[in-house]
Amino acid sequence: MDLGLEGVAAEEAELLKRNVLFSRHEELKAWARSNSLWPLTFGLACCAIEMIATRGSLFVADRFGFFFRNSPLQADVMIVSGSVTKKMAPILRRLSDQMAEPRWVITMGSCATAGGPYVRSYSVVKGVDQIVPVDVYIPGCPPSPVALIYGFQKLRAKIRAEARRGREVTARG
Ligand code: SF4
Repeated sequence: MDLGLEGVAAEEAELLKRNVLFSRHEELKAWARSNSLWPLTFGLACCAIEMIATRGSLFVADRFGFFFRNSPLQADVMIVSGSVTKKMAPILRRLSDQMAEPRWVITMGSCATAGGPYVRSYSVVKGVDQIVPVDVYIPGCPPSPVALIYGFQKLRAKIRAEARRGREVTARG
């Protein structure tokens, strides 16, 4: 970008180039949000154990910039880990609605993504996207904590890319 530095001494111009950054407000917000995601844990079955392990002392999710919360009022990304029964679907929707915008959803494991081994069951929802929009799908049965961390990196990239493209940063957009 041209900083319009004609007439400025070379040394000062160099200093300005190194220290002055230009960005759009939306991109700045997306950068801050993507580096401080607060996930709402929604563990429903075996995948939840891997999600809990991500928080534990071996992987320590906090050092990657995401901090697990237990309240939708404090969270901006829901991790759905495990099989969602039709009985739980309205509760999942209610918790999602209680989260402030912008909010995002990660499905962890093949059950949450598409019904998994229970796809032919009468009682299991065949994918969380039938209840709320999903931003990142993590495959596996179960996916490892490393896969969840990778999923968060993908979500970060998505938030920043949408801000760059000028779209409102929201999963409901
Ligand atoms: S994807 Fe596999 S590990 Fe995860 S909840 Fe379903 S059956 Fe359990």
